Amino acid sequence: MHTPCKPVRLSLAWAFCAVFLSLAGCAPQPPQTSATQAGGNTPTHFQDGKFHNNYVDTLPGPLSDLLRWQWNAWRNNLPPPPRTPIPVVAPDLPAISANAVAGSAMRPAITWVGHASMLVQANGLNVLTDPIFSERASPVQWIGPKRNQAPGVALADLPPIDVVVISHNHYDHLDVASVRALNTRSAGKTLFIVPQGLKAWFADEGIQNVVELDWWQSHAVAGVDFMLTPVQHWSARGINDRHKTLWGGWAVMGPAFNWYFGGDSGYSADFKDTATRLAPRLATRGGFDLALIPVGAYEPEWFMQPQHMNPTQALQVQRDLGAKQSVGVHWGTFNLTDEPLDQPPNDLAKARAAQGVTDDQFFLLAIGETRFLKPQP
Ligand code: ZN
Ligand code: ZN
Repeated sequence: MHTPCKPVRLSLAWAFCAVFLSLAGCAPQPPQTSATQAGGNTPTHFQDGKFHNNYVDTLPGPLSDLLRWQWNAWRNNLPPPPRTPIPVVAPDLPAISANAVAGSAMRPAITWVGHASMLVQANGLNVLTDPIFSERASPVQWIGPKRNQAPGVALADLPPIDVVVISHNHYDHLDVASVRALNTRSAGKTLFIVPQGLKAWFADEGIQNVVELDWWQSHAVAGVDFMLTPVQHWSARGINDRHKTLWGGWAVMGPAFNWYFGGDSGYSADFKDTATRLAPRLATRGGFDLALIPVGAYEPEWFMQPQHMNPTQALQVQRDLGAKQSVGVHWGTFNLTDEPLDQPPNDLAKARAAQGVTDDQFFLLAIGETRFLKPQP
C-alpha cells in the first residue's frame, strides 16, 4: 500500500543534505590553499585549490543529475523498506576487552559497529574506522539519514582506542559527536590519522592528536604503518568546501597482520595501483590478510557508480588488492541511496556464486558481531 508520508519524509530528508552539499560545492571558491607533500612537492592530484581523482575528473556530477535522482526516488517511493531484518547480535564484550589488552598476543579480530565503522584489533592496536555512533548521518540531528539500528557496540563499551582512521569528511564517515567523544574518553590519547586537509577541522573541534597524510604517505604507530591510498570519491561537508580536503583508503601493515580499509569508493584502477605499489611491502605476509570493502549505496547505478561500488565490483576489488579475505561494510545502517538496506547481501551472494568466491573469502558480519580471523595460506 502506498504510504505518502514516509517516502516524503525520508526522501526529502536526504535531499536536504544532498542538495545542501551540492549547492555548497557550487559556491565560489575562496583563495587557494596550498597542499604539499612531505618532500615539498605539490601533489599532482591537488590543482586549482582542489583535490582530484586519478581516473575521473568531477564527482558527484552536476546538480541536475542529483535532482533527477532525488525526483525519481521520491516519485517511486525509494528506497523500499527492507524485507528481511538486518542481522544484529549482542557484542561479545568480554572477548573484545580481553583481546584489547593482549599486546603481542592479540588475535586479529574485527567487530562491526555498523556502516563503515569497524573495530579492528590486530598487531597489538585497537583501531576504529570511520566511527559514527550518532542517530543521524547529517550536519544536524533533526533531519537527514537516520540509523536503522543502534551501534553494534556502544561507544562507552569500546576498549581504549589507539588509532582512529578517517577515510573522508562525508557525514556518514566523519561524525563530529563521535570523534569528540572518542577524544574525550581517552583524554586525547587516541590518535586520529586523517586525509590531507582535515587536521584543521579536528583542531577546530579541540582535537589535537591528529596526523594528516597525502596519498601514499604513511605514519607508523608502534611498528604498524598506516598509509593513505587513493580511491575514487570526493569530499564536502558544508558551504564552499567541495574537494577541499582529501579522501582515501587505508593500508595498515604490521608484523602480524596486513589490512585494508576502502572507505567510500567507486570502482577504479586505484585498487590495482595500490596492490602494485605496495607489493614489495606486502610480500612479507603474502598480501593483505583482510580488506574492508564497501558493498552498499550503489543504486541508481547511472548516478552512483563513479562514487560507490556494487557487490560485483567489490569482488573485483578484492582480486585487485590480492586480499586473502574481505568483509563488506557501508551497508545495512543508513538509507543513503535507492536500494533497500537488505539488498547488498542478496547481490553479494549472487556475485559470489557467479564468480566462484566462497562466503568465507568475502563475508558479511551481523551488526555487533566479532570475528576472530584464522590465518590464511
Ligand atoms: Zn562519501
Ligand atoms: Zn559513505
